[in-house]
Amino acid sequence: MDGYGPALDAARTFADRWLASLPTRPVGVPADPAAVRARLGDLPDDGAGAAAVLDDLVAALEPGLVASGGPRYFGFVTGGSLPVALAADWVVSATDQDAAVAVMSPGAAVGEEVAGRWALELLGLPSEAAVGFATGAQTANIACLAAARHALLAAAGWDVEADGLAGAPTVTVLLGAAAHATVVQARRLLGFGARHAVRVAADAQGRMRPDALREAMAAAPGPVLVCAQAGQVNTGACDPLDAIAAVVAEHPDAWLHVDGAFGLWAAASPRRRHLVAGAERADSWAVDGHKWLNVPYDSALAVVRDGTALATALSVSAPYLPLGAADPSTRTLENSRRPRGIPVYAALRALGRTGVADLVDRCCDLALRAAERFAAGGVEVVNDVVLNQVLLRVPGVDVADLARAVAEDGTCWVGTTVWDGAPALRFSVSNWSTTAEDVDRSVACILALRDGLAG
Ligand SMILES: *Cc1c(COP(=O)(O)O)cnc(C)c1O
Repeated sequence: MDGYGPALDAARTFADRWLASLPTRPVGVPADPAAVRARLGDLPDDGAGAAAVLDDLVAALEPGLVASGGPRYFGFVTGGSLPVALAADWVVSATDQDAAVAVMSPGAAVGEEVAGRWALELLGLPSEAAVGFATGAQTANIACLAAARHALLAAAGWDVEADGLAGAPTVTVLLGAAAHATVVQARRLLGFGARHAVRVAADAQGRMRPDALREAMAAAPGPVLVCAQAGQVNTGACDPLDAIAAVVAEHPDAWLHVDGAFGLWAAASPRRRHLVAGAERADSWAVDGHKWLNVPYDSALAVVRDGTALATALSVSAPYLPLGAADPSTRTLENSRRPRGIPVYAALRALGRTGVADLVDRCCDLALRAAERFAAGGVEVVNDVVLNQVLLRVPGVDVADLARAVAEDGTCWVGTTVWDGAPALRFSVSNWSTTAEDVDRSVACILALRDGLAG
């Protein structure tokens, strides 16, 4: 076996070239999966040198790689990687620490502890809350709702860890009409069926209506799990969390969870934190690192006010595992895992409070700029652009055709969705490196392609 040097040199050479190309390479690739597969080949009998493998590997993959970390990728809600976060992620890989149990890596455990504490401060969440570093808002949602399940049923006199769900008091799950699909999945995985879930009416922006929530809660027979949202994936709208928390507080046995995958970062901006006012009154929160904070995949935080509920719901127990409350694996679905909180630390350390606020505000301001230009070009802006999402309808043009044309052109990349029963184009500004010029160029490109299709 070669030592580490040649392989890492090959990786570094590729990374430098790839990262330098992000601002200029075509954003959407007309990738040919079959070509990539053919180039990767069959399982060989004999091994090969590490550096040669690296060179072959990147050559095979590159035609199928998307410049989604670059400044003109506006699809989904996609952050790039801050240089410092990427570098810290390399350190995480190189040191190969297991963050399951503190004794396996006190450095990783304390690094994540500090990153978690800083994140709570920035997000305005209770300092006593437990933080688990999850792979995404999806698993963070599952971890949070598992804690909710434990606590709600315990309060109703039911030990779900011992007795399971059969015969348990019915927990009614209340989700906003425009809740994210992963919250629905989390509900289902935790054994809360659709028959005991209610979609609470939302307004035109997708914000849960507190009056409708009050009605739904009054109709629920027992414990209630309310899943609110900060940052609707199409509109960016945030549920009125303060009013929702007030409604939830009237109920004797209720848990309020906030899926704030990207929207909760608004709390870090003095200009926009009013959008998520009241978030701190919830019981649990899911928030991504790999979206708006721009740390590499994968990264999210599961935050639960009652750390004991979380640890009880997720606990594992074995004589060889010296697990205590301070051990990270009591806060995540994963047992062995990379310490993905370390790149979060690096991002927060490099940005500071003002830097995170600036990152949030810059993306929001650029979204507004895009919306103004689209509107001036005759494209309908469907949403109130309060955060970093712009939702568009394009009169006279099929948005799927337009999105395809944009991908083929390569200047930028946008996705599609269905909103309020009609197809729409999504334009999400989530990358730290996106500039006003990137936005202007992309809007001009989309408008020109629209003209071509309409003509
Ligand atoms: C993206 C998103 C999720 C899922 O997050 P992943 O990081 O993809 O797991 C959940 N909720 C909302 C509101 C989101 O925007």
